[in-house]
Amino acid sequence: MLGVCCGACVPGGGVIGGNVASSPTGHHGEGNGVLRLLQVKPSASSEEIKRAYRKLALKYHPDKNPSEGERFKLISQAYEVLSDPKKRDLYDQGGEQAIKEGGLSGGSFSSPMDIFDMFFGGGGRMNRERRGKNVVHQLGVSLEDLYNGITRKLALQKNVICGKCEGYGGKRGAIEKCPVCKGRGMQVLVQQIGPGMVQQIQTVCPECKGQGERINPKDRCDNCNGCKVVREKKIIEVHVDKGMKDGQKIVFHGEGDQEPDLEPGDVIIVLDQKDHSVFQRRGHDLITKMRIQLSEALCGFRKTIETLDNRVLVISSRPGEVIKHGDLKCICNEGMPIYKSPMDKGSLIIQFLVQFPEHYWLPREKLCLLEDLLPPREDVMITDEMDQVDLEDFDPSEQTYRNSGGEAYEEDEEGPRTGVQCQTS
Ligand SMILES: [Zn+2]
Ligand SMILES: [Zn+2]
Repeated sequence: MLGVCCGACVPGGGVIGGNVASSPTGHHGEGNGVLRLLQVKPSASSEEIKRAYRKLALKYHPDKNPSEGERFKLISQAYEVLSDPKKRDLYDQGGEQAIKEGGLSGGSFSSPMDIFDMFFGGGGRMNRERRGKNVVHQLGVSLEDLYNGITRKLALQKNVICGKCEGYGGKRGAIEKCPVCKGRGMQVLVQQIGPGMVQQIQTVCPECKGQGERINPKDRCDNCNGCKVVREKKIIEVHVDKGMKDGQKIVFHGEGDQEPDLEPGDVIIVLDQKDHSVFQRRGHDLITKMRIQLSEALCGFRKTIETLDNRVLVISSRPGEVIKHGDLKCICNEGMPIYKSPMDKGSLIIQFLVQFPEHYWLPREKLCLLEDLLPPREDVMITDEMDQVDLEDFDPSEQTYRNSGGEAYEEDEEGPRTGVQCQTS
């Protein structure tokens, strides 16, 4: 839900890039803008923040979405703030300016690509010069896939060294100095922009693409057209092992784009678990909610649960046992398999939701029969001095007191005035 806080944090604009530094405290609450950018709640755990960043970074990565470079930067900065407690404190107190002045990591944000590489286990800056880029793909999997394990085939497009010219681009010895830029790789264009005024613009030479040398068109490899690489479809088999989890990376070393004289980067597959309609995963445990009738809660029940590998478990309460609304029970060794030790499993945790009957479900004259069976009620002494008041249904979304009372809420919490009044009565 995007509410409007102020001009500086319009949806999509983002507070970091905006001018929030001039209104440092309070107004934005807990780094509201960065939370909004990552679409997380203020109470989000670091796990939820990571998950949100992963999804958005992959969605807006310049490789996939070249026009969203600015948003990619803002998302990366938001993640940087939220994932570093020191930066988060600084940001909460003073916005972007505080981070710049705070002297943390050179006093500014890291490059969005560095954050992306750090997050997805990229080669890092040292390696990047000698290695090609890593390619990151997200692979959607179900909870069943992670429970049972699965092999998925993925078709990737990648550059491979041209087999015909072995990455040379043409005949041996056919490389010549680029005649267009005379080997400089750059071209200078002179433009007249007004009477007696010219502007010089340097551009990368289109003929040799800045290389300064080229292969004479008549000697070019006809397979790769002199590009040294060709685009090829490659099928990779991704083995999703039992017990793997959302966000886990599966790395295919050296399967990135090939380029002459460069070690290819990796293909990194990031698992993205879709929500399950019955089970929620928490670490090695599975959690499910089970509705039972009031009669079952009081008199006992027998129920079935279908597991993620399609077995059916039968569970029943012990004779005489009462299940209360919200009670938790667990079944050992029916949770998720442990990664790399799949014979061991976590627990299956069941939370019981007791379904009470509707209004007027029992004719009034029969209520006394039920009452005779239930534990006795507590008697209350009522005197004439007491006030009889009406009991109405309450809707928590309508906070009537706060709306009309304004600041009364905050004063109540501090309490010195009301405290005095209470003592006099
Ligand atoms: Zn050139
Ligand atoms: Zn070739």
